[in-house]
Amino acid sequence: MEYLISNFGIIQAVLIAISIVFIRYLFFSGIPYSILYVIRRKNIAHKRIQKNFPKSMRIKKEIKHSFSTAIVFGGIGLCIYTLKLNGLTQIYTDFSNYGLGYFALSILIMLLIHDTYFYWMHRVVHHPKLFGIIHKVHHQSRNPTPFTAFSFDVAEAVVEAAIIPIIILIVPVHPLAIFLFFNISLAFNVMGHLGYEFLPSWFIKHPILKWINTSTHHNMHHQKANANYGLYFNFWDTLMKTNHKHYHKKFYAITKNNKEKSITI
Ligand SMILES: [Zn+2]
Ligand SMILES: [Zn+2]
Repeated sequence: MEYLISNFGIIQAVLIAISIVFIRYLFFSGIPYSILYVIRRKNIAHKRIQKNFPKSMRIKKEIKHSFSTAIVFGGIGLCIYTLKLNGLTQIYTDFSNYGLGYFALSILIMLLIHDTYFYWMHRVVHHPKLFGIIHKVHHQSRNPTPFTAFSFDVAEAVVEAAIIPIIILIVPVHPLAIFLFFNISLAFNVMGHLGYEFLPSWFIKHPILKWINTSTHHNMHHQKANANYGLYFNFWDTLMKTNHKHYHKKFYAITKNNKEKSITI
């Protein structure tokens, strides 16, 4: 990055960062979309969370909004770089400083901090006075696709990205841990907007796995925006009693492929 900045200038470095974010989004969303919505569409219809498919115009809008999100995220990359350059972050580059155990733990810590930040930020942006100016664009996709993952209003993209500078200011993290965290986060984000449920029906009864959110969980949030606010984990929705009352029923209906699939939520 330092090499890039010194040789191409700040504007070029930001443009490269934006391109990387957007191409990564197209890759993470485009592959599952091509497989699930085009190549295997007919064979896996029984795995659909909502029976209908969104119109292509909606998907085009999702990609357009995701491009503006990539611009914001690229700008945040510059913010991270500036903080690092001024010695204001906890980023370390020598593995031996904290060891491999901490390296793995730091990724889990980032996920837990992000999960808590996301839950409460998400509750706040659902306030009627904020919803229209921050979160409305994301909810225009009532039947989400993998391309919904970055479909945010510019204001929401800023709020979503703000957690990264916060994390690197307080948690010692290796650049590789940040890279892995970004990819886990995007993969989970795409999973939440997949439109399909591939997990087995026992998943939400398992004593440990039940604390991880499913695609059905976030899909129901897009259908009825008054429940299921969590991101990776179900801790906050359980504690605050904000899981949708039909979450388990809907999940079983899809995963067992029975007649209850058409239940109204
Ligand atoms: Zn969503
Ligand atoms: Zn929402």
